[in-house]
Amino acid sequence: MKVKVPKTIRIGALDYDIGFQRNLRLRTDYLGTCDYQLKEISIDPEYPKTLVDTFLHEVIHMICENYKLPFRSNEDMVNRLAHGFKELFDALDIELLIEGLPQRQPL
Ligand SMILES: [Zn+2]
Repeated sequence: MKVKVPKTIRIGALDYDIGFQRNLRLRTDYLGTCDYQLKEISIDPEYPKTLVDTFLHEVIHMICENYKLPFRSNEDMVNRLAHGFKELFDALDIELLIEGLPQRQPL
């Protein structure tokens, strides 16, 4: 089953906007970022093979923030969780489609 990632995802009581930001990696060295204040996840669209991993990684950061999990900034822990969720989606035959998201300009 293919599931298109929406432009907005609700986590807890808050809506988080998902968008592309070109050259994000060139400017920040990150494939994705999450801004807790703006409630935004940005993903560099220039790296299509890592879009799903990056999306899951950033969403897990947001979940950790929302639910006050102590490892919010622990990149290794967030990576492991993202990998686990990717395996779960693969096992359930769910393919996340990350396309057509709004293009966001750098701040
Ligand atoms: Zn991270």
